[in-house]
Amino acid sequence: MSQSKFYYFDNNATTRVAPEVVEAMLPFLSERWGNPSSSYHFGKQLNKDVESAREKVASLVNADPREIVFTSCGTESNNAAIHSALAAHPEKRHVLTTAVEHSANINYCRHLQQQGCEVSFLPVESDGAIDIHLLEKTIRPGTAIVSVMWANNETGVMFPIEEIAAICRSKHALFHTDAVQTPGKLKIDVKDLDVDMLSLSAHKLHAPKGVGLLYVKRRTKFLPYIIGGHQERGRRGGTENVANIVAFGRAAELAMSTLKDEQTRVRSLRDKLESAILKTIPGTIRNGGKEPRLPNTSNIAFEGVEAEAILMMFDQLGICVSSGSACTTGSLDPSHVLIAMGLNPSLARGSIRFSLGIYNTEDEVDYILEHLPKIISKLRAISSEKATHPHHHKKKDHAETVANAAN
Ligand code: PLP
Repeated sequence: MSQSKFYYFDNNATTRVAPEVVEAMLPFLSERWGNPSSSYHFGKQLNKDVESAREKVASLVNADPREIVFTSCGTESNNAAIHSALAAHPEKRHVLTTAVEHSANINYCRHLQQQGCEVSFLPVESDGAIDIHLLEKTIRPGTAIVSVMWANNETGVMFPIEEIAAICRSKHALFHTDAVQTPGKLKIDVKDLDVDMLSLSAHKLHAPKGVGLLYVKRRTKFLPYIIGGHQERGRRGGTENVANIVAFGRAAELAMSTLKDEQTRVRSLRDKLESAILKTIPGTIRNGGKEPRLPNTSNIAFEGVEAEAILMMFDQLGICVSSGSACTTGSLDPSHVLIAMGLNPSLARGSIRFSLGIYNTEDEVDYILEHLPKIISKLRAISSEKATHPHHHKKKDHAETVANAAN
């Protein structure tokens, strides 16, 4: 990359590993490399470090440490929760989730459909909210589990988890929430939420990739997804990823201490960015209702522009954001979340997600606000020129056009 400084506004994708987290995990990558299941001191003492990290992540969500199962990532946690509910209740073959979940959930549910399970994907309204009455009506005696994310990773839109948990309890269905996007942004209290299971992923809270957790409420029948050794009290086989687990523990402490910053300073940076874009750039629309929403996320549609083109021009300026659309074999699929909200595909393809974090500064927001209006005008000028002189541009590759425009 020619740009030496970069402007990172993609914290919902992953986050920078905090220096204090790196420091905490380093000894476990160098001198303290043993296996916590060993009987001799060199290995066994690592157990204490794993348990201390378990206490820290448990306190992040206000759980008992015994209710925490370490996994490899958020995807595994989601899969494990749904798997366990179905395995523990073989007479129940129905799963209820939403149309806007992360692929970590949606694609697992599609897989389950192929295995003969019935899955209902609850639709959302144009502001991204779900119809709670429809949710209630869709739960039936055969519903093994309801899995609804707490906050959407693309729009930041939040769902009423406490209310859903109460409905599930009254209907005798287990309730799992994918809370991967919430630590450090919302206060998490599993007792208040009253969920049966909850997923987190360490790399969204300034720890490394490769570790996650599943909270499993006491007395919930749990059957493992990864079957092997007796680690995690028989709930997840596999030698513990000690360094990453220690890092996760340190990051959990950090998330609790930065919560206020995220809810005030980061929120006001997000609000400044969002309102300036909506005000100064014509043909822009916020995707998703204003509240309740994560304090760090803003998803905006730019009429008449391809998000991929904005991303390429941003990249040349060192700005990292995400389009929220999946690029599959060269064809751009618009985001399933925005489509589920009823956005037309061309607006969905012109949508950008900005996700801020604790390391963002006002200068960085100003940098985006300085460049974005010019980028949008340039790209709109190109597309209107293309519309008037289609032959001139016919042979030109789209990427080439954009790259030239950015020069
Ligand atoms: N759930 C949500 C809401 C996410 O945003 C993500 C990651 O993007 C995941 C699950 C998957 O987490 P992981 O990357 O740890 O598998």
